[in-house]
Amino acid sequence: MALTQDEQKAVDAAPNQLLIGGEWRDATGGGRLPIEDPSTGEAFCEVADATPDDAKAAIDAACDAQADWATTPPNERSEILYKAFKAIGENVDDLALLMTLEMGKSVAESKAELTYAAEFFRWFSGEALRIDGYFKNAGNGASRVLVMRQPVGPCYFITPWNFPNAMGTRKIGPALAAGCTMVVKPAQQTPLSMLALAKLLSDCGLPGGVLNVVTSKKSADVSEPIIGDPRLRKLSFTGSTEVGRKLIAQAADNVLKVSMELGGNAPFLVFEDADVDDAIEGAMIAKMRNVGEACTSANRFHVHESLAEEFAEKLAKKMGAMKVGRGTEEGTEVGPLIDADQRDKVAELVDDAVSKGATCVTGGDKRNGEGYFFEPTVLSGVTDDARVLDEEIFGPVAPIATFSSDEEAIAAANNTEYGLVSYVYTSDLKRALRVCEALETGMIGLNQGMVSNAGAPFGGVKQSGTGREGGNEGIHEYLETKYIAVNL
Ligand code: NAD
Repeated sequence: MALTQDEQKAVDAAPNQLLIGGEWRDATGGGRLPIEDPSTGEAFCEVADATPDDAKAAIDAACDAQADWATTPPNERSEILYKAFKAIGENVDDLALLMTLEMGKSVAESKAELTYAAEFFRWFSGEALRIDGYFKNAGNGASRVLVMRQPVGPCYFITPWNFPNAMGTRKIGPALAAGCTMVVKPAQQTPLSMLALAKLLSDCGLPGGVLNVVTSKKSADVSEPIIGDPRLRKLSFTGSTEVGRKLIAQAADNVLKVSMELGGNAPFLVFEDADVDDAIEGAMIAKMRNVGEACTSANRFHVHESLAEEFAEKLAKKMGAMKVGRGTEEGTEVGPLIDADQRDKVAELVDDAVSKGATCVTGGDKRNGEGYFFEPTVLSGVTDDARVLDEEIFGPVAPIATFSSDEEAIAAANNTEYGLVSYVYTSDLKRALRVCEALETGMIGLNQGMVSNAGAPFGGVKQSGTGREGGNEGIHEYLETKYIAVNL
């Protein structure tokens, strides 16, 4: 299917080369990486396919720029970030269209992501001005303690396809604010959004070499020389736990500082005193935002047995009424999944749950025809042995299981190696706090279906990762603490 004129215009305006040392250039050897529209399965453009030599050039450029960027006045670093925050808003239509073409979700959802992504630049433009240290008397009174914070140095960022811009700005924002330079490698499915963001930052005055972008289908090959470079000081990754584990092992060789934002298996708990309509509203956001392709997606619903039937019916009514279609079509609420593998995995999880006794209340099928669409699906009576309760679904499927006591709900919620986020619906304050204390996740949505917020520390525990992005904590991932013992 040919792109419309507006779509073609947005694609033509986006860079399609590597950004290294402030120059846009082709990959050595001229390799190209085709980009597919998930709503048709057809490639609609190509970008440079970087080689390990390009990766070496990118880390060289980041290292060369480090000393100057670290000493650039905080006011200047802050102003570039604030300009970029404004520029995303001014260019949101073109950026959203580009994102929808390569990632699939509706244009409205792409705009929402861009608003969220831009907020990290606004937040960290402020944080750039608040990097502090302290001075105090030592206990014995004879010397003084002087503590200063300094940028960690050159960083390497690897980002996923599900939020092609926001997963980048959460790292780029604090790194720029702290005075670090970087190489960014976006996911091979969605490089255009990151290239467009890099151009926007250059247009806002970011000096060449501070941010370098390599796009490649050979992720491991281009990452190796960067992670193995002794000048690199920090690796920040957002993606699956499986890949995160491998990267932590690679980072050990040079004892890199690491931040890992990994997979999730979020439980959504509805207690017997919850307002069911509020819980449904929250469930729709927690489940259907980003077509269910979010690490924070509610992966499983544990509902008190007294409410389970009503909850399943109401959720099925709302999810079943959602408009499925190409993300660029007016009124689309549910776009395609990213690729055929992801769609087939979702179908497999649904089939497995049904074969073990679950009932499909709505949906249940992939769509025939072009593109990687899957119907919004609600499964009730899901049994404990169903894979869908254990594995990250990453699709528009809501499995519902029941519980009869708080202890049972908490045990079910914590019965996973993941620990990113959970959702709790109850109108009893004491129960809310008791349950929140017992849940083994880095974040909790309390009577709220979304936790993402640039001003809050986002991150997981257990195998969902380590480190926090956003909030007061975010910039510390990019700062080293230096202590000077002062002899008076
Ligand atoms: P993925 O792990 O397959 O890929 C993520 C990135 O890593 C991509 O850029 C990919 O090219 C790269 N990569 C893959 N193998 C690599 C290797 N051996 N060496 C270096 N780079 C490699 O994940 P995905 O499918 O792109 O994204 C979905 C996953 O991301 C889900 O598990 C989701 O939960 C997770 N995620 C987590 C968060 C969070 O903040 N915790 C946010 C968004 C997504």
